[in-house]
Amino acid sequence: PPVVIALDGPSGSGKSSTARKVATRLGLAYLDTGAMYRAMTWAVLERDVDVEDAEAVAEAAAEIVIESGTDPQAPTIIADGVDVAGPIREQAVTDAVSQVSRVPAVRERLVALQRQTIASSDGIVLEGRDIGTVVAPDAPLKLYLVADTAARAARRAAEEGQAEVAAHVEATAASLQRRDAIDSTRTTSPLAKADDAIELDTTHLTLDEVVDEVVRLAVK
Ligand code: C5P
Repeated sequence: PPVVIALDGPSGSGKSSTARKVATRLGLAYLDTGAMYRAMTWAVLERDVDVEDAEAVAEAAAEIVIESGTDPQAPTIIADGVDVAGPIREQAVTDAVSQVSRVPAVRERLVALQRQTIASSDGIVLEGRDIGTVVAPDAPLKLYLVADTAARAARRAAEEGQAEVAAHVEATAASLQRRDAIDSTRTTSPLAKADDAIELDTTHLTLDEVVDEVVRLAVK
């Protein structure tokens, strides 16, 4: 079976940057499962479906086609044939994604795709919320990244190029906490640390320190 590294944790804990760098260093594929849920959400919104209507979301999800490119240096995400790498980072998608991700039919579809991607890879790093618990429970290495809300919000705001605007950091913190609350309390595959996952607090670590630690655990 291929090498699988599962990287889970709340929003803004540093999963994406860490996963891409680890995959690059180890010559593995990379899958951003959050981007898949975001792409599904973009396509649901594009169809004017009410995201509070779980049945309507499930119906739409059955028709939506999501494709992910797994090169860690140039990952791609396509929904219904459209490159949505830009649009999935917009606030409208961020605000709706946790609602869409609660719908069991959405998760079934995307988890099946994620498992196919694992099976057809020669080794892969996956980042998400339920990789260690649901998508790849047999993964030999599972990490659960955490960080203080303030650190997470500052990082996310910096990614968005607005670190200097305190109000933006505050709004980002509120948005992260709102999503984490929905993600941790949903009934299907909530955000959770797998029993055998190693918890890593990234609050006071640089990206390179986190990457070094994950690589060290992977090769040991
Ligand atoms: O990782 P990112 O912040 O882009 O994820 C966006 C959202 O997608 C999360 O807030 C969560 O609702 C959902 N998600 C999920 N399961 C995953 C990955 C992401 O439910 N494995």
